[in-house]
Amino acid sequence: MSQDLIKCPKCGSSQIAAGKKGFSGKKAVVGGLLTGGIGILAGTLGSNKVKITCMACGNNWFPSQYQSQTVKYEHRRVQQEEIDKATQQAVIRSAQKAAFKDAWKRNAFDSAEKHYRAYFGVPDANLTREQMEKAYKDFQSERRVSIGLVIVVLAIIIYLIAR
Ligand SMILES: [Zn+2]
Repeated sequence: MSQDLIKCPKCGSSQIAAGKKGFSGKKAVVGGLLTGGIGILAGTLGSNKVKITCMACGNNWFPSQYQSQTVKYEHRRVQQEEIDKATQQAVIRSAQKAAFKDAWKRNAFDSAEKHYRAYFGVPDANLTREQMEKAYKDFQSERRVSIGLVIVVLAIIIYLIAR
């Protein structure tokens, strides 16, 4: 019987309870008690007659599901980390784009150049004004397209409501 069994596969908490049919007050062995209690319970655990419940997040599992739950939640954690990372990068990129456009508008070319390099990930590129101007125009037309899309969507919604 693995020591890990006393940790929730979903949230990692060791505040867990074991009962014959999931958590029910009297039958449960809670938290620290379980550290010692797990050995006593081990025989029963193996037979899947005991359901374990996490007191922290409410997750519950039969001992036989422990491994598959661990894999499932680890997979989710990795996915969530990737989503967080991508979101963070998108936020940073959008800030760089905004800073570039702002600097270009103010004719602050050094600053525009710095943000252009950061946005496009070309720290050592030899930039020309034409390149930056083209990027600025592209960004502006991107914005026109998204404003256009918003207007179209709003028009459709208004049409559907008014119908
Ligand atoms: Zn939990």
